[in-house]
Amino acid sequence: MESAPADRPRLRVSLAGLPAYRAGTAGPAADFKASSNELPVPPSPAVLAAVAVAAAGGNRYPDISSSALARVLADQLGVAADRVAVGTGSVALLQQAVLSVCDAGDEVVFAWRSFEAYPIITRIAGAVPRPVPITIDGRHDLAGMAAAITERTRLVLLCTPNNPTGPALSREEVLGFLATVPPDVLVVLDEAYHEFVTDPAAVDGIDLLDAHPNLCVMRTFSKAYGLAGFRVGYAVAHVDTATALRSTGVPFGVSALAQAAALAACQEQDLMRERVRAVCAERERAIAGLAGHGITVPQAQGNFVWFGAGAAAEELAAHLESGGLAVRTFPGDGVRVTIAEPAATTRLLELIATSPRRGQGGEG
Ligand SMILES: *Cc1c(COP(=O)(O)O)cnc(C)c1O
Repeated sequence: MESAPADRPRLRVSLAGLPAYRAGTAGPAADFKASSNELPVPPSPAVLAAVAVAAAGGNRYPDISSSALARVLADQLGVAADRVAVGTGSVALLQQAVLSVCDAGDEVVFAWRSFEAYPIITRIAGAVPRPVPITIDGRHDLAGMAAAITERTRLVLLCTPNNPTGPALSREEVLGFLATVPPDVLVVLDEAYHEFVTDPAAVDGIDLLDAHPNLCVMRTFSKAYGLAGFRVGYAVAHVDTATALRSTGVPFGVSALAQAAALAACQEQDLMRERVRAVCAERERAIAGLAGHGITVPQAQGNFVWFGAGAAAEELAAHLESGGLAVRTFPGDGVRVTIAEPAATTRLLELIATSPRRGQGGEG
């Protein structure tokens, strides 16, 4: 073992080799940024107006518990307001969940490949990641995940629809899984793409909360609401879990601007649904177009599609990027393409038609 140099701060051993979160990028050559699952449209005039009002009060600290927003969300979801915790994006709430239930060495079970933040937030908290491989069609292996639960497991993360592969968990699957999980293990259902789900069999975590006190549902304003830059998301859970999530967050983290933006967006449900409908229509057009080129992708229930290109992932990504479409590459595994404006779908289908490998291996 190498001894740490004495002339600089000694960092935690568990941070050594921690992978950095890789944000989706778009170089100057990109016509379309299809790399971060964002909406292609800017915030509405009502949101911008609310943010301007909040900005004028910027000498004051924000409401520490985002209480007005929590109340509105609670009303919309039909739960008590003290069961809602608001955070700086649901990625922060995910980290707060690990900090709330894991001591050093405790284990966090999640599917892999899934949201790349999971292993990072687990290790930042000093806990141990227990990734369970997804199936060939990009789905959670729930039996495998149940089998991975040990005495040390304190948290299970389920991602539905799964980022980056796309399939949603069904209500039946989640109910069956919850029946196998010890009641003192927290199960987080990460529903960041909930609003894009069109499969009628898919789970809606809110419906399961009352019967499952160890369940926590997380959603965000970053995706369907198009407010990724404001950093605001929320969790709904048992009041004890929600209280723990609030206590492990950075005080005053959710800015007054973010609270105002989210509150205003909550008042424009029709606009959100219309934008989501447009994205879902593009998603179906993309899937049909790909099928026309002989390419099947896993069930796509978010605002993105997954090409399980395996070893050809980087080659496929380079082809798409050279055609002006910035995508998210997972080297050796696959390529995730955000579905957004119609012109980007058209470009995707044109590029796939001219791809040297036509996104081969699209099944996995
Ligand atoms: C985008 C995303 C989130 C949360 O994003 P925030 O911007 O932090 O709210 C959470 N989970 C998954 C799977 C995501 O893709």
